[in-house]
Amino acid sequence: MKESCPGSKEITNPSPEDLKCVHCGTVNEIWSDEPDTQCKSCKKTIDRVMKINCLMWCPAAKECVGTEKYEKLTKAMK
Ligand SMILES: [Zn+2]
Repeated sequence: MKESCPGSKEITNPSPEDLKCVHCGTVNEIWSDEPDTQCKSCKKTIDRVMKINCLMWCPAAKECVGTEKYEKLTKAMK
């Protein structure tokens, strides 16, 4: 098993975080590997700035978090 960097831990071991809806102010739960979620109150999509910048420059990012998640997250960051 390859050792992963601290930045990718949020993706390989996601944890719930609070995300406040910009539309209605409701606090929603979002997992640290999700770039967006749907507000439970107003049903609008809430985007957020992903903290996981290492994916953008790390040459091993793809194998670090897995191809599927890598592509989903890098797409969301553009
Ligand atoms: Zn809302």
